[in-house]
Amino acid sequence: MKVLLVFDFDNTIIDDNSDTRIVQCAPDKKLPMALQDSYQKGFWTEFMGRVFKYLGDEGVKEDEMRRTVISMPFTLGMVELFSFLRMNKDKFDCIIISDSNSVFIDWVLEAADFHDVFDNVFTNPAAFDNSGCLTVRNYHAHSCNRCPKNLCKNAVLVEFIEKQLEKGVRYARIVYIGDGGNDVCPVTFLRKNDVAMPRKGYTLHKTLARMSQNLEPIESSVVVWSSGVEIISHLQFLIKE
Ligand SMILES: [Mg+2]
Ligand SMILES: [Zn+2]
Repeated sequence: MKVLLVFDFDNTIIDDNSDTRIVQCAPDKKLPMALQDSYQKGFWTEFMGRVFKYLGDEGVKEDEMRRTVISMPFTLGMVELFSFLRMNKDKFDCIIISDSNSVFIDWVLEAADFHDVFDNVFTNPAAFDNSGCLTVRNYHAHSCNRCPKNLCKNAVLVEFIEKQLEKGVRYARIVYIGDGGNDVCPVTFLRKNDVAMPRKGYTLHKTLARMSQNLEPIESSVVVWSSGVEIISHLQFLIKE
């Protein structure tokens, strides 16, 4: 049985946030105040839709956006981790679940030639329209009240596991690698055999630490990481067991 690796994208695979990095393309590298203030909690995708519309209206071209997105660095040790996974695809399936968008993630994976490492990417679907403006839609609708309207990463993960089961694919365990607040929901549903891998010092790590202090620990084991090389070490340990 294979191990399923679930990756977040922003601040996990890449050492930046693609949605905030793209603002570098705006005139003076910042958004007009009215646009900045238009964000409503839980409606991030709608907000990014307005940002992309603004960039399009300002004449920012696809190629400039692409160069900005692929200039973001990978997080320390991630390139090594993906090379390790590529050599061990018989032991690992890898998916990305991200609140970024399909265009940004495609650009990054393509530029670094890492598409073959990942079996599936679940994210908000995006495309350039006829006027050259990037448009983005919500990934799905769900009924989880802990997550933003457009994406519950746990719902995506549960659905993926069910689809795999229908195909006869069962996983020995799930390893979840992430950093952010929207990674908390899927991590709390992990089981005893699974591993939550929060990035050291980031929101997911802090939230899990607070939960265990409040005596509401999660079922899975928790292994904190700062570099992809530490993730390799833990995966080597898991497949030896
Ligand atoms: Mg993240
Ligand atoms: Zn949720």
